[in-house]
Amino acid sequence: MIQNLVRPNIRRLTPYSSARSEFKGKAEVFLDANESPYDTGYNRYPDPLQWKLKQAISTLKGIAPEHIFLGNGSDEAIDLLLRIFCEPGADYIITLPPTYGMYRVSADISNVAVKEIPLRPGSFQPDVESVLAEADAHSKLLFICSPNNPTGNSIRPGVIRELTKGFPGIVVVDEAYIDFSAQESAIRLLPEYPNLVVLQTFSKAWGMAGIRLGMAFASEEIIGYFNKVKPPYNINQLTQEAALKALDRQEAQEAQVKQLLGQRTLLQQYLGGLPFVERIYPSDANFLLVKVEDPTGIYNYLVDRGIIVRDRSRVMLCEGCLRITVGTPEENERIFRALVEFE
Ligand SMILES: *Cc1c(COP(=O)(O)O)cnc(C)c1O
Repeated sequence: MIQNLVRPNIRRLTPYSSARSEFKGKAEVFLDANESPYDTGYNRYPDPLQWKLKQAISTLKGIAPEHIFLGNGSDEAIDLLLRIFCEPGADYIITLPPTYGMYRVSADISNVAVKEIPLRPGSFQPDVESVLAEADAHSKLLFICSPNNPTGNSIRPGVIRELTKGFPGIVVVDEAYIDFSAQESAIRLLPEYPNLVVLQTFSKAWGMAGIRLGMAFASEEIIGYFNKVKPPYNINQLTQEAALKALDRQEAQEAQVKQLLGQRTLLQQYLGGLPFVERIYPSDANFLLVKVEDPTGIYNYLVDRGIIVRDRSRVMLCEGCLRITVGTPEENERIFRALVEFE
């Protein structure tokens, strides 16, 4: 029962009812929302539930619009999940480090404790038994990042199934990098698992990080709670329009993803030939986790040449590692040439 996992105050909440959501039907004169009547292109409040955009996403993803929530980045969806399900000071979340840092920051902001069950060293797969052993009535959310940031690997589908089946709370599968992966999305598991939430984003493969648009896919019941707690007009009109335009360029997006995957292979080959590179982890994402002899030295050396990578060398199980995003052919050439000179 999902309802029993929801915080009592959220279950009882009477949501804000906006002018535009109270009115249903067709009208010509809008004097209900204290907007300016003068047409600037943006004088009206945007659609609070973004139906047109959800329809387009629905077609792309093969899931009904009622199963979609759109947020101001995935980060908003993560924050709302915490506020819907986790009672501050009482409930907690489980994360599988090394992983995306926002789960902890969001939990810290909400005063929700975090229990960390590290991925297995080497394979970076979850230890299913240990995770399920930690679960109880207060472990409300389990965050699985697949493909995982910063390790780059996908979590095995069987493992996602086992965890979702056995976990008593909500399982959140963060698929920010799914378009770079050969693995299928967990969206197709939704009909089987009512406690599953899948997150995706326009920030990576779609090349739209600047518009801040994240997606959550889940049961209608969970989407209903998202809609209950979200700020009424959380996705602005500019973002809705820009996302619709981006979805019209699907073929270009797919070509870019293909190009990046080719560049990822090339970068792997380049870096693999450098003597100070100890290990390149397999990647299902648009970045490589690379273990090097002197991560901080290399990081600073690259910064001096105007090239910024992510120093992950102080992150659990990522000792000695830099995370390098795959760029354009020219950018990849540039970092490679700089690294050859570092020798
Ligand atoms: C980049 C990234 C996101 C994207 O967050 P947005 O708020 O949608 O930009 C989400 N999850 C992970 C794991 C990421 O690496």
